Amino acid sequence: MPGPGEFQIIRDYFTAAPQGPGVLLGIGDDCALLQAPQNTILATSVDTLVADVHFPAQADPAKIAARALRVNLSDLAAMNATPLWFTLALTLPHSDALWLQQFSQGLLETAAEFAISLVGGDTTKGPLSITIQVTGSCAHTAKPLRRDGAKVGDHVFVSNSLGAAAAALPFVLGQKTTDNKQLQQAQNAYYLPQPQFALAEAIAPFASSAIDISDGLIADLTHICTASDVSAELTVEKIPVAVLARQLNTNHALQLAASGGDDYQLCFTIAEQHLPLLIKKQLPVTCIGQLVAGKGNVHCSLNGKPWRAQQTGFQHF
Ligand code: ADP
Ligand code: MG
Repeated sequence: MPGPGEFQIIRDYFTAAPQGPGVLLGIGDDCALLQAPQNTILATSVDTLVADVHFPAQADPAKIAARALRVNLSDLAAMNATPLWFTLALTLPHSDALWLQQFSQGLLETAAEFAISLVGGDTTKGPLSITIQVTGSCAHTAKPLRRDGAKVGDHVFVSNSLGAAAAALPFVLGQKTTDNKQLQQAQNAYYLPQPQFALAEAIAPFASSAIDISDGLIADLTHICTASDVSAELTVEKIPVAVLARQLNTNHALQLAASGGDDYQLCFTIAEQHLPLLIKKQLPVTCIGQLVAGKGNVHCSLNGKPWRAQQTGFQHF
Protein backbone atom coordinates (compact mmCIF):
# COMPACT_ATOMS: atom_id res chain seq x y z
CA MET A 1 0.00 0.00 0.00
CA PRO A 2 1.44 3.40 -0.94
CA GLY A 3 2.15 5.71 2.01
CA PRO A 4 0.78 9.22 2.39
CA GLY A 5 1.75 11.86 -0.19
CA GLU A 6 3.83 14.99 0.53
CA PHE A 7 0.99 17.27 1.58
CA GLN A 8 -0.76 14.57 3.56
CA ILE A 9 2.49 13.90 5.44
CA ILE A 10 2.78 17.57 6.38
CA ARG A 11 -0.91 17.75 7.39
CA ASP A 12 -1.09 14.46 9.28
CA TYR A 13 2.21 14.44 11.11
CA PHE A 14 3.55 17.96 11.49
CA THR A 15 0.73 20.53 11.34
CA ALA A 16 -0.63 19.61 14.76
CA ALA A 17 2.55 20.87 16.42
CA PRO A 18 1.56 23.26 19.22
CA GLN A 19 2.64 26.84 18.53
CA GLY A 20 4.32 28.68 21.37
CA PRO A 21 4.92 32.40 21.90
CA GLY A 22 5.89 34.61 18.98
CA VAL A 23 4.42 32.42 16.20
CA LEU A 24 2.21 34.83 14.22
CA LEU A 25 1.83 32.29 11.39
CA GLY A 26 3.06 28.69 11.61
CA ILE A 27 3.13 25.75 9.18
CA GLY A 28 1.11 26.07 5.97
CA ASP A 29 2.16 29.25 4.15
CA ASP A 30 5.29 30.05 2.13
CA CYS A 31 7.01 31.30 5.29
CA ALA A 32 6.33 31.29 9.00
CA LEU A 33 5.92 34.75 10.53
CA LEU A 34 7.73 35.10 13.83
CA GLN A 35 7.89 37.82 16.43
CA ALA A 36 11.12 37.91 18.45
CA PRO A 37 10.73 38.67 22.17
CA GLN A 38 11.48 42.33 23.00
CA ASN A 39 15.07 43.26 23.74
CA THR A 40 16.61 40.01 22.55
CA ILE A 41 19.27 38.90 20.11
CA LEU A 42 18.37 35.83 18.04
CA ALA A 43 20.67 32.80 17.99
CA THR A 44 20.27 30.38 15.08
CA SER A 45 21.91 27.13 14.08
CA VAL A 46 21.32 24.21 11.69
CA ASP A 47 22.45 20.58 11.78
CA THR A 48 21.90 17.72 9.37
CA LEU A 49 21.75 14.10 10.49
CA VAL A 50 22.36 11.62 7.69
CA ALA A 51 21.26 7.99 8.00
CA ASP A 52 24.16 5.59 8.65
CA VAL A 53 26.50 8.53 9.29
CA HIS A 54 24.82 10.09 12.34
CA PHE A 55 22.38 7.33 13.27
CA PRO A 56 21.61 3.78 12.09
CA ALA A 57 18.93 3.93 9.36
CA GLN A 58 17.04 1.11 11.07
CA ALA A 59 16.87 2.85 14.45
CA ASP A 60 13.62 3.60 16.28
CA PRO A 61 12.19 6.66 14.45
CA ALA A 62 11.14 8.32 17.73
CA LYS A 63 14.73 8.08 18.96
CA ILE A 64 16.14 9.45 15.69
CA ALA A 65 13.81 12.44 16.00
CA ALA A 66 14.62 13.01 19.66
CA ARG A 67 18.36 12.96 18.97
CA ALA A 68 18.06 15.22 15.91
CA LEU A 69 16.26 17.90 17.89
CA ARG A 70 18.38 17.51 21.04
CA VAL A 71 21.71 17.96 19.26
CA ASN A 72 20.37 21.19 17.77
CA LEU A 73 19.04 22.32 21.14
CA SER A 74 22.48 21.67 22.57
CA ASP A 75 23.90 24.36 20.25
CA LEU A 76 21.37 26.85 21.65
CA ALA A 77 22.26 25.80 25.21
CA ALA A 78 25.98 26.22 24.48
CA MET A 79 25.32 29.89 23.61
CA ASN A 80 23.02 30.41 26.62
CA ALA A 81 20.07 30.98 24.28
CA THR A 82 16.45 30.13 25.13
CA PRO A 83 14.67 27.88 22.57
CA LEU A 84 11.92 29.51 20.49
CA TRP A 85 11.29 27.91 17.07
CA PHE A 86 12.60 25.24 14.72
CA THR A 87 12.13 24.06 11.13
CA LEU A 88 12.50 20.51 9.82
CA ALA A 89 13.76 19.48 6.37
CA LEU A 90 12.97 15.80 6.07
CA THR A 91 14.23 13.63 3.22
CA LEU A 92 12.68 10.17 3.11
CA PRO A 93 13.50 7.20 0.83
CA HIS A 94 9.78 6.30 0.79
CA SER A 95 6.54 7.28 2.47
CA ASP A 96 5.90 5.00 5.47
CA ALA A 97 2.96 5.93 7.70
CA LEU A 98 4.15 3.99 10.78
CA TRP A 99 7.67 5.43 10.56
CA LEU A 100 6.27 8.96 10.20
CA GLN A 101 3.86 8.49 13.09
CA GLN A 102 6.68 7.37 15.40
CA PHE A 103 9.08 10.02 14.13
CA SER A 104 6.63 12.89 14.57
CA GLN A 105 5.61 11.66 18.02
CA GLY A 106 9.25 11.56 19.17
CA LEU A 107 9.88 14.96 17.62
CA LEU A 108 6.84 16.71 19.07
CA GLU A 109 7.33 15.18 22.54
CA THR A 110 10.90 16.47 22.57
CA ALA A 111 9.72 19.87 21.30
CA ALA A 112 7.19 20.05 24.13
CA GLU A 113 9.80 19.08 26.73
CA PHE A 114 12.05 21.96 25.67
CA ALA A 115 9.26 24.44 24.84
CA ILE A 116 10.29 24.92 21.20
CA SER A 117 7.74 25.25 18.36
CA LEU A 118 7.91 23.57 14.93
CA VAL A 119 7.06 26.39 12.50
CA GLY A 120 7.88 24.99 9.06
CA GLY A 121 9.97 22.69 6.98
CA ASP A 122 10.37 20.84 3.73
CA THR A 123 9.53 17.27 2.74
CA THR A 124 11.45 15.57 -0.06
CA LYS A 125 12.31 12.11 -1.40
CA GLY A 126 15.86 10.78 -1.26
CA PRO A 127 18.28 9.03 1.12
CA LEU A 128 17.05 9.42 4.74
CA SER A 129 18.29 12.67 6.20
CA ILE A 130 17.00 15.09 8.80
CA THR A 131 17.91 18.76 8.88
CA ILE A 132 16.73 20.87 11.79
CA GLN A 133 17.26 24.58 12.14
CA VAL A 134 16.72 26.03 15.60
CA THR A 135 16.28 29.63 16.67
CA GLY A 136 16.53 30.89 20.22
CA SER A 137 16.79 34.19 22.00
CA CYS A 138 19.40 35.78 24.24
CA ALA A 139 18.15 38.61 26.41
CA HIS A 140 20.19 41.79 25.96
CA THR A 141 21.00 41.49 29.66
CA ALA A 142 22.18 37.84 29.45
CA LYS A 143 25.62 37.17 28.00
CA PRO A 144 25.80 34.80 25.01
CA LEU A 145 28.53 32.18 25.53
CA ARG A 146 30.92 32.42 22.60
CA ARG A 147 34.01 30.41 21.66
CA ASP A 148 36.28 33.39 21.20
CA GLY A 149 36.45 34.96 24.66
CA ALA A 150 38.96 32.69 26.43
CA LYS A 151 42.17 34.24 27.85
CA VAL A 152 45.59 32.91 28.89
CA GLY A 153 45.39 31.80 32.55
CA ASP A 154 41.67 30.89 32.40
CA HIS A 155 40.72 27.52 33.86
CA VAL A 156 39.07 24.88 31.67
CA PHE A 157 35.98 23.03 32.94
CA VAL A 158 33.62 20.34 31.69
CA SER A 159 30.09 19.56 32.86
CA ASN A 160 28.97 16.22 34.31
CA SER A 161 30.93 13.32 32.78
CA LEU A 162 32.18 12.21 29.37
CA GLY A 163 32.60 9.06 27.33
CA ALA A 164 29.20 7.42 27.77
CA ALA A 165 27.88 8.13 24.28
CA ALA A 166 31.08 7.02 22.53
CA ALA A 167 31.23 3.85 24.65
CA ALA A 168 27.56 3.24 23.85
CA LEU A 169 27.93 3.55 20.07
CA PRO A 170 29.05 -0.04 19.25
CA PHE A 171 26.09 -1.33 21.29
CA VAL A 172 23.68 1.07 19.58
CA LEU A 173 25.02 -0.15 16.21
CA GLY A 174 24.61 -3.79 17.26
CA GLN A 175 28.37 -4.48 16.93
CA LYS A 176 28.58 -5.45 20.61
CA THR A 177 25.95 -6.98 22.87
CA THR A 178 25.12 -6.67 26.56
CA ASP A 179 22.17 -7.25 28.91
CA ASN A 180 18.90 -5.38 28.38
CA LYS A 181 19.40 -2.94 31.22
CA GLN A 182 22.79 -1.81 29.98
CA LEU A 183 21.61 -1.71 26.36
CA GLN A 184 18.84 0.63 27.49
CA GLN A 185 21.39 2.87 29.23
CA ALA A 186 23.57 2.83 26.12
CA GLN A 187 20.61 3.80 23.91
CA ASN A 188 19.73 6.66 26.24
CA ALA A 189 23.32 7.92 26.36
CA TYR A 190 23.48 8.01 22.56
CA TYR A 191 19.95 9.07 21.57
CA LEU A 192 18.95 11.32 24.46
CA PRO A 193 21.78 13.79 25.10
CA GLN A 194 20.80 16.49 27.62
CA PRO A 195 21.20 20.04 26.33
CA GLN A 196 22.79 21.91 29.25
CA PHE A 197 20.46 24.92 29.48
CA ALA A 198 20.43 25.34 33.27
CA LEU A 199 24.18 25.00 33.54
CA ALA A 200 24.81 27.45 30.70
CA GLU A 201 22.60 30.02 32.39
CA ALA A 202 24.42 29.50 35.69
CA ILE A 203 27.92 29.97 34.22
CA ALA A 204 27.07 32.67 31.65
CA PRO A 205 27.70 35.67 33.91
CA PHE A 206 31.36 34.76 34.44
CA ALA A 207 32.44 32.17 31.83
CA SER A 208 34.82 33.58 29.21
CA SER A 209 33.96 30.99 26.52
CA ALA A 210 31.94 27.82 26.03
CA ILE A 211 31.23 25.06 23.50
CA ASP A 212 29.10 21.94 23.53
CA ILE A 213 31.11 18.76 23.13
CA SER A 214 29.81 17.08 19.98
CA ASP A 215 33.02 15.96 18.28
CA GLY A 216 35.01 15.04 21.41
CA LEU A 217 36.55 17.04 24.27
CA ILE A 218 39.98 17.55 22.70
CA ALA A 219 38.55 18.50 19.29
CA ASP A 220 36.04 20.93 20.76
CA LEU A 221 38.49 22.47 23.25
CA THR A 222 40.75 22.99 20.22
CA HIS A 223 37.91 25.03 18.65
CA ILE A 224 37.85 27.30 21.71
CA CYS A 225 41.64 27.63 21.60
CA THR A 226 41.68 28.46 17.89
CA ALA A 227 38.84 30.99 18.17
CA SER A 228 40.43 32.62 21.23
CA ASP A 229 44.04 32.43 19.97
CA VAL A 230 45.37 30.54 22.99
CA SER A 231 46.50 26.96 23.74
CA ALA A 232 45.40 24.62 26.52
CA GLU A 233 47.10 22.28 28.97
CA LEU A 234 44.72 19.42 29.60
CA THR A 235 45.27 17.19 32.66
CA VAL A 236 43.82 13.97 31.35
CA GLU A 237 43.50 12.19 34.72
CA LYS A 238 41.12 14.94 35.84
CA ILE A 239 38.59 14.29 33.07
CA PRO A 240 35.36 13.01 34.71
CA VAL A 241 34.81 9.64 33.03
CA ALA A 242 31.17 8.47 32.90
CA VAL A 243 30.40 5.36 34.98
CA LEU A 244 28.64 3.89 31.94
CA ALA A 245 31.75 4.42 29.80
CA ARG A 246 33.78 2.38 32.32
CA GLN A 247 31.13 -0.35 32.40
CA LEU A 248 30.78 -0.59 28.61
CA ASN A 249 34.45 -0.20 27.73
CA THR A 250 36.72 -0.76 30.72
CA ASN A 251 39.99 -0.56 28.78
CA HIS A 252 39.35 2.59 26.75
CA ALA A 253 37.01 4.66 28.93
CA LEU A 254 39.53 7.46 29.46
CA GLN A 255 40.35 7.63 25.74
CA LEU A 256 36.63 7.82 24.94
CA ALA A 257 36.09 10.56 27.51
CA ALA A 258 39.01 12.56 26.07
CA SER A 259 38.22 12.21 22.39
CA GLY A 260 34.94 10.36 21.82
CA GLY A 261 32.05 12.55 20.72
CA ASP A 262 28.27 12.77 21.16
CA ASP A 263 28.06 13.56 24.89
CA TYR A 264 26.87 17.17 24.37
CA GLN A 265 28.28 18.29 27.72
CA LEU A 266 29.68 21.82 27.97
CA CYS A 267 33.37 22.69 27.94
CA PHE A 268 33.93 26.23 29.20
CA THR A 269 36.63 28.54 30.49
CA ILE A 270 36.63 30.91 33.42
CA ALA A 271 39.09 33.52 34.71
CA GLU A 272 40.87 32.72 37.98
CA GLN A 273 39.21 35.66 39.75
CA HIS A 274 35.73 34.20 39.10
CA LEU A 275 36.52 30.71 40.47
CA PRO A 276 35.05 31.44 43.94
CA LEU A 277 31.72 32.40 42.30
CA LEU A 278 31.67 29.14 40.37
CA ILE A 279 32.57 27.03 43.41
CA LYS A 280 29.86 28.74 45.48
CA LYS A 281 27.22 27.62 42.97
CA GLN A 282 28.11 23.94 43.54
CA LEU A 283 27.55 23.00 39.91
CA PRO A 284 28.32 19.54 38.45
CA VAL A 285 31.54 20.72 36.77
CA THR A 286 35.20 19.64 36.92
CA CYS A 287 38.36 21.65 36.31
CA ILE A 288 40.48 19.75 33.76
CA GLY A 289 43.14 22.24 32.74
CA GLN A 290 44.30 25.76 32.09
CA LEU A 291 44.92 28.02 29.11
CA VAL A 292 48.43 29.09 28.13
CA ALA A 293 49.89 31.30 25.42
CA GLY A 294 49.88 29.54 22.06
CA LYS A 295 48.24 29.06 18.70
CA GLY A 296 45.22 26.87 19.19
CA ASN A 297 46.83 23.64 20.46
CA VAL A 298 45.66 21.31 23.21
CA HIS A 299 48.62 19.74 25.07
CA CYS A 300 47.60 16.66 27.06
CA SER A 301 49.38 15.14 30.05
CA LEU A 302 48.57 12.04 32.10
CA ASN A 303 50.12 11.90 35.58
CA GLY A 304 52.77 14.41 34.56
CA LYS A 305 53.78 12.69 31.30
CA PRO A 306 52.83 13.82 27.77
CA TRP A 307 49.79 11.90 26.52
CA ARG A 308 48.31 11.42 23.08
CA ALA A 309 44.71 10.62 22.19
CA GLN A 310 44.38 7.51 20.01
CA GLN A 311 41.79 9.20 17.81
CA THR A 312 41.05 12.77 16.95
CA GLY A 313 37.56 14.25 16.70
CA PHE A 314 35.17 13.16 13.98
CA GLN A 315 35.49 15.00 10.67
CA HIS A 316 33.37 14.39 7.57
CA PHE A 317 36.05 15.14 4.99
P1 ADP B 1 6.81 25.69 -0.54
O1 ADP B 1 6.51 24.92 -1.78
O2 ADP B 1 6.23 27.06 -0.51
O3 ADP B 1 8.25 25.63 -0.12
P2 ADP B 1 5.96 23.37 0.86
O4 ADP B 1 4.93 22.78 -0.01
O5 ADP B 1 7.33 22.79 0.83
O6 ADP B 1 6.00 24.93 0.63
O7 ADP B 1 5.46 23.29 2.39
C1 ADP B 1 4.15 23.72 2.73
C2 ADP B 1 4.14 24.14 4.17
O8 ADP B 1 4.43 23.03 5.01
C3 ADP B 1 5.19 25.21 4.51
O9 ADP B 1 4.63 26.07 5.48
C4 ADP B 1 6.32 24.40 5.10
O10 ADP B 1 7.06 25.19 6.01
C5 ADP B 1 5.59 23.26 5.79
N1 ADP B 1 6.34 22.00 5.81
C6 ADP B 1 6.77 21.25 4.78
N2 ADP B 1 7.39 20.13 5.20
C7 ADP B 1 7.38 20.17 6.56
C8 ADP B 1 7.88 19.34 7.58
N3 ADP B 1 8.54 18.18 7.32
N4 ADP B 1 7.69 19.72 8.86
C9 ADP B 1 7.07 20.88 9.14
N5 ADP B 1 6.56 21.70 8.24
C10 ADP B 1 6.70 21.37 6.95
MG1 MG C 1 9.13 23.13 -0.48
